[in-house]
Amino acid sequence: MPCTKSVRQCLLLYEKLQKGGLRRRRPEDDCSRKSSVRLRADPMSLYLPVTEIKGVGEHSQEQLSSLGIHTVKDLLEYYPFRHEDYAVRPLAEVQHEERVTIRGQVQSEPAVRFYGKKKSRLTVRVLVDGLLIQAIFFNQHYLKNKFVIGHEVVITGKWDQHRASLSPAVMTTKKQTNEEGLEPVYSLKGDMKMASLRKFIHEAMTSYGDLIEEKLPEQLVNTYRLMDREEAIRHLHFPKSQDSLSQAKRRMTYEELLLFQLKMQTYRKQEREQQKGDKKHLPVKNVEAFVQRLPFPLTGAQNRVKQEILNDLKSEFRMNRLLQGDVGSGKTVIAAIALYAVVRAGYQGALMVPTEILAEQHMASLSELLKPEGITVRLLSGSAKAKERREVIEGLKTGEVNILVGTHALIQEGVDFKDLGLVITDEQHRFGVNQRRVLREKGLHPDVLFMTATPIPRTLAISAFGDMDVSVIDEMPKGRKPIETYWAKPSMFDRVLSFMEKEIHKGRQAYVICPLIEESEKLDVQNAIDVHAMLGSGLSDWKVGLMHGRLSQEEKEDAMNAFSRNETQVLVSTTVVEVGVNVPNATVMVIYDAERFGLSQLHQLRGRVGRGSEQSYCILLADPKSDNGKERMKIMTETNDGFELSEKDLELRGPGDFFGHKQSGLPEFKVADLVHDYRVLEVARQDAAKLVNSEAFWHSKDYVQLRTWLLEEGVLDLDRLD
Ligand code: ADP
Ligand code: MG
Repeated sequence: MPCTKSVRQCLLLYEKLQKGGLRRRRPEDDCSRKSSVRLRADPMSLYLPVTEIKGVGEHSQEQLSSLGIHTVKDLLEYYPFRHEDYAVRPLAEVQHEERVTIRGQVQSEPAVRFYGKKKSRLTVRVLVDGLLIQAIFFNQHYLKNKFVIGHEVVITGKWDQHRASLSPAVMTTKKQTNEEGLEPVYSLKGDMKMASLRKFIHEAMTSYGDLIEEKLPEQLVNTYRLMDREEAIRHLHFPKSQDSLSQAKRRMTYEELLLFQLKMQTYRKQEREQQKGDKKHLPVKNVEAFVQRLPFPLTGAQNRVKQEILNDLKSEFRMNRLLQGDVGSGKTVIAAIALYAVVRAGYQGALMVPTEILAEQHMASLSELLKPEGITVRLLSGSAKAKERREVIEGLKTGEVNILVGTHALIQEGVDFKDLGLVITDEQHRFGVNQRRVLREKGLHPDVLFMTATPIPRTLAISAFGDMDVSVIDEMPKGRKPIETYWAKPSMFDRVLSFMEKEIHKGRQAYVICPLIEESEKLDVQNAIDVHAMLGSGLSDWKVGLMHGRLSQEEKEDAMNAFSRNETQVLVSTTVVEVGVNVPNATVMVIYDAERFGLSQLHQLRGRVGRGSEQSYCILLADPKSDNGKERMKIMTETNDGFELSEKDLELRGPGDFFGHKQSGLPEFKVADLVHDYRVLEVARQDAAKLVNSEAFWHSKDYVQLRTWLLEEGVLDLDRLD
């Protein structure tokens, strides 16, 4: 049924309904019947409160609202996460320990035994296809009267082939085993009961289901032979068969991914349009000459990425690019080239990093490359003196300071630039679409480059960062030797120690990473303070530094500087050294309790060594008994490739945990699964890009549903559509 209202009308009505402007009609109201009939025919009545559903009273409304269900639509779109299969199957086909539903005849009086306070066990014999089996029910003694010898029963349970029993078992009602056989299982909260929720959804489907409108344009539905939306939602809840369930899932997965990609592609288009006209006139020859003056030739990958970035800077569109490169692949120099180009074109640049240590380090490496070129680079750190701070801020306003380095707090503070042309963020993988828009909301429209050393699996990259362009440095500078990684039991620490000693005598340095800062009563895990004391006392000819998050900024810097000047040969640290730190002379990385870290984090830590030309080593001290840890340690010893690791990490941990952080910017999907549906994701992305860039999408009535959805999601302004 096409929506005949204008989008604006729909939206206003929608808002009104959301605010409860249209309340439930009571039976005693005049003309209630007529109006409710009229109301029902209107697709907007999907936005009515759930209390419209038969059987949903105030209490149920509260329960539903704790599940995030407020309207009829919410209820219909609350999909089950799996289905219970109650189709009766012959026992001959069933494997040992498999779950099965059988139909049989009761052969014995049930025997009930009580034990403990509330525990019971009920056993009954049932004849199934000529085979006598036992069904065992726990804590369901109230079923006793349901078993009458000679009567038919349907029971679901785990099949124990050796004992010919179903245990634990549950009674299955006739309704569950009707031709459908598949019963939806929803996630619940509070005291919401599965049976009630099923009933409500069933009721909603019956009274409102036919109002569900097709969102996808006909052409796509036909091309991919998709089930229509109403049917898909119906089957998602109450499938007729496994086949109809998978067709329903296929359709909703595509829809979900397409809608999401439409959102990202629309953002992308908007950003580009808003920046039209701001071409930077880069002095190409100057830039190339600067590249020639670098201390080393760029790798092929660096050259390619450099070109992609320079093209963006030159173009009339705002750059919004993600640069991925494994640890040590040489991203810093790319940042330097981009900043150099922008400054030469008459703009200022900023480099933002997550920690002060990293800011210091980038300050040093950028100064080294850019100062000789006459470019002014300044650092704005939290520990700066007031006078220095004022100076820097003043210099930014006048344009005297060309490049500012600092932590991410930079953009939040009252720092004004004369003409900010480029913002680069390094080692920052925890930004969502929203955080990325902070800059724009401040009225700044610079080109933006995000650099990250956490290789992001392609599926995640195009979903979390679907509104961005992606560049990848997939090649290491020449002469790097792959880091050798070993896995050792904690009891072998003595051998690890003598190995470290050997390396240090060769003039090298070592990191030792501990999960905790100090001893904990709760966790049996190594802590930096104890390890520091232990190493410091045993080894007179080495100096051992200590670093952790509770030190003051100055102490941290001192520890880091001492290590990078080789005044300390060993640095004991928590994971604060995880990101970006560059001390090429360090060749040994020892990680205590390595099973406590995820693959990506271990890879980041390992990336602190292997940055020079010497052979480097990473030693993982891990408890061999931890199951999941074992797998990760094995993977670590087998590959040095960050991208391969990230794919494995995604498999092991799932997309939600991948970034180890809620603000990953990853959307939560109801049906789609980013790991398994990545092919659909690719297709959806292409389709979305095609749509967004076509005239018809913005004007034709074939797409009114999709446009309305973008409106509802807050992606579009109303003006855009009128
Ligand atoms: P990351 O990508 O981890 O930030 P860096 O930019 O810190 O890596 O580079 C790691 C090291 O490699 C630095 O010491 C840097 O000077 C060096 N490096 C970068 N590019 C090249 C290159 N093309 N050839 C040789 N060494 C390089
Ligand atoms: Mg770096």
